[in-house]
Amino acid sequence: MEHKLVLKAYGKINLGLDVVRRLENGYHEVRMIMQSVGLADVLTMRRLSEDKIIVKTDKEGLPCDERNLAYRAAKLMKERYGIRDGVEVFLEKHIPMAAGMAGGSADCAAVLKGMNELFGLGLTLEKLQEAGVKLGADVPFCLMGGCALSEGIGEVLTALKQPPECVLLLAKPDIDVSTKYVYENLRLDALEGHPDIDGMLRDIEEGNLKALCGKMENVLECVTGEEYPVIGKIERIMKEAGAYQAIMSGSGPTVFGVFGEKEDAGRAMAAIREQNLANEVFLSNFQAV
Ligand code: ATP
Repeated sequence: MEHKLVLKAYGKINLGLDVVRRLENGYHEVRMIMQSVGLADVLTMRRLSEDKIIVKTDKEGLPCDERNLAYRAAKLMKERYGIRDGVEVFLEKHIPMAAGMAGGSADCAAVLKGMNELFGLGLTLEKLQEAGVKLGADVPFCLMGGCALSEGIGEVLTALKQPPECVLLLAKPDIDVSTKYVYENLRLDALEGHPDIDGMLRDIEEGNLKALCGKMENVLECVTGEEYPVIGKIERIMKEAGAYQAIMSGSGPTVFGVFGEKEDAGRAMAAIREQNLANEVFLSNFQAV
């Protein structure tokens, strides 16, 4: 049995995000195309002989107690599977926080997988997803990774073919966006249209990156983008530099641009930095499973 594990927790973007309707219980029915990205946190996990959970991180300001999803994942697995030994998790953060990139959910998924392996539980992906959904709607996707269609309230997942390779530019402006605020302020009746998610599914199946990019859209942008013009500015820079498309991920504020050429992405990156539009800017890629 392994006693130390090093795991990568990949962030995600939404290639398409549609909100179909608001449900009676306040939740929203969504249709989203989720894609893992190469930008990842790195977790080192170790078994402890004492019955305790220790989480440490290099990220200033990130709590390491029950408020941390990595801690909650370890606790859930210990309780659910009667594990008496403890675990130590060191969290090296790279994914921007509160960014619309599911960084917390990715860490949570990595710890669930790590506990499965460290303690030889032999759980299937489905079992881990069943446990993980209790900790966050994006956790089941983070457990599977790659490209997937997410429906229902985000819990119904269908694995998709990996879209063609590209150069991805991620830029997170220095603003705080509350996911709750964004959904509450979304006026579904005022939307001019909805993303063509079915068309995107066909483009993915056919491996047609440019057609896929032409359809990329996020309905939440009408709330976040309206409030923060910096989002539109970053998108314009990316498109002027040659991006096939540039849109916001999740409820924001991270903007991603899909490029065919690294030089074009590099120029956009330099311009975004020069104009001080984002404090965290990364070159990345679509990450396969
Ligand atoms: P989503 O895309 O699911 O909306 P997000 O990218 O907006 O996620 P996260 O970075 O996952 O947001 O987390 C936002 C909040 O969750 C932070 O304010 C942070 O305090 C808390 N949190 C708990 N655990 C973690 C973790 N391991 N990494 C980052 N944030 C965490």
